[in-house]
Amino acid sequence: MKNEKLETKRHSLAHIMAASIQEMFPEAKFGVGPVIEEGFFYDVHLSRPLTPEDLQAIEKRMREKVKQNLRFERSEMPLDEAAGLFGNMSQDFKVELLQDLKTRGTTAVADLGDSNLVGTSINEVSVYKTGNFTDLCRGPHVQQTSEIDPDSFRLTRVSGAYWRGNQQREQMQRVYGVAFDTKKELEEYFIRLEEAQKRDHRKLGRELGLFMFHPWAPGAPFWLPKGTTLYNTLANYMRGVLFPAGYVEVKTPLIYNKALWERSGHWKHYRKDMFLIESENETMSTKPMNCPGHFLTYASEVHSYRELPIRFHEQTPLHRNEASGVLSGLTRVRQFSQDDAHCFITPDQIGEEIERLIRLIQKVYGDFGLTFSAKLSTMPDDHLGEVSTWEHAERQLKTALAQANMPYTINEKDGAFYGPKIDFDVTDAIGRKWQCATIQLDYAQPENFDLKYIGADNAEHRPIVIHRAIFGSFERFIAILIEHYAGAFPVWLAPVQAMLIPIADRHVEYCNQVKERLSAAGLRVEIDTSVERMNAKIRNAQMQKIPYMLVVGDREQEQGAVAVRLRSGEDLKTKSVDDFLHIISEAIRKKN
Ligand SMILES: [Zn+2]
Ligand SMILES: [Zn+2]
Repeated sequence: MKNEKLETKRHSLAHIMAASIQEMFPEAKFGVGPVIEEGFFYDVHLSRPLTPEDLQAIEKRMREKVKQNLRFERSEMPLDEAAGLFGNMSQDFKVELLQDLKTRGTTAVADLGDSNLVGTSINEVSVYKTGNFTDLCRGPHVQQTSEIDPDSFRLTRVSGAYWRGNQQREQMQRVYGVAFDTKKELEEYFIRLEEAQKRDHRKLGRELGLFMFHPWAPGAPFWLPKGTTLYNTLANYMRGVLFPAGYVEVKTPLIYNKALWERSGHWKHYRKDMFLIESENETMSTKPMNCPGHFLTYASEVHSYRELPIRFHEQTPLHRNEASGVLSGLTRVRQFSQDDAHCFITPDQIGEEIERLIRLIQKVYGDFGLTFSAKLSTMPDDHLGEVSTWEHAERQLKTALAQANMPYTINEKDGAFYGPKIDFDVTDAIGRKWQCATIQLDYAQPENFDLKYIGADNAEHRPIVIHRAIFGSFERFIAILIEHYAGAFPVWLAPVQAMLIPIADRHVEYCNQVKERLSAAGLRVEIDTSVERMNAKIRNAQMQKIPYMLVVGDREQEQGAVAVRLRSGEDLKTKSVDDFLHIISEAIRKKN
């Protein structure tokens, strides 16, 4: 939920920050200062880089200003007058925005979308004065700074940003702050942040030996043995969920002639995100998505309505040429795989298929202990196809959501131009939201690829395609899971499920026998044969977040048993190997 009152405070603090910067750096030229999640920033052009000491000094000045109870005084003036006013103050960026407003009717800043800078009309703009600082702004702001708790905000960092996101333009310094209603909420925010840093999947991925990166393959993870186990466990889990739900798995090519992408429209709209390959004087590209391959597969045979829905699932790698600057851990990558599928259905099947899908999503997220919410995006103004077709589809989506007891919000007019969609956000263990599953109806690609089925009337009809993924990409979902579980995966997912810990060398052989038995039962078990002492071995296994530690000394060996400890430190005492097998199998079955 948008908290408009808090956003107003945050935006007002951006003004107060700019005012403070201007006092300290009279040469400062200001760009834009919008509200962002948890705070605000302002882009500033300065003669030198800001230091951490500068940030502290700016923050101190801001606090003083807030305590002075400054008013935000609004005035309106003709656009040309405002341009003159900001010109006199040498605020070149503001003058540029005003000129844009005059000639193009917008001040949209490339990398920020809509900004706060739009005036009340094209001819009149509003200007706000706070103390000695005047800014071009639409508002709203607090009436006066007494509405802001002087201890409820903090400046956090400075990063580089190009004016209007354009690398040819001026390099700005983006000064970030966070702000909340109260000091307590600010402190809680920093505790949450610290918790998030502890759970950072890049850090845990390294510590747990899951994956690595190399500068020669930017954005393409190397899955280490434990990470590969985790990955494959998820891949097979998804197969196990989809197979009984009527999906079939396919593997389609990774590289296609550009003719395919021309047909699908990717060549026109998506080419800059594709990796191109020249071969035998033909232009080829690695696939950024599976859809067109599935359409060719579907179209290779004549289908009857009796076969529908046909559901193709595929997990092969995709490549998207993301700028190297935005790559980050597993959440922004160039190579990834999705739990992707395309369902080919008749118009009558929309409701039932969507309901089945929502139930699948509920089952999958439930298995990971993730809570989630749904958003339905409806017909945009620039849509393809008949309004009645859209209305029919949207009605069926709403019914399906209701049938599956799935609460949802509506994003009016936010669907793709070719069909409505439902997006699912999952909430992780520390309350962060991530967008994962999508269900997208598509009426356009079946036209492009001339997809057909033979109806009961013996005539040809167009199927509808549903694009859907539940995890989204495996890479990103694994990042979410690592952070959600803080690396302590439930037993069924843990790359190593049990660590055998021989107290002395003479127990190693018995450990080998136990390992063989457990492995034969399908468990992932290792033996710590290092020279370290027992307590160090237990600590290492705990650091690796291995669910079970099985300590073996003379007594256990004689009894054909193991001493079972959990990674939480809990001691389950000595158990026969059979009893332990029962315990761990139950934990796996229940996905504990
Ligand atoms: Zn403002
Ligand atoms: Zn698709």
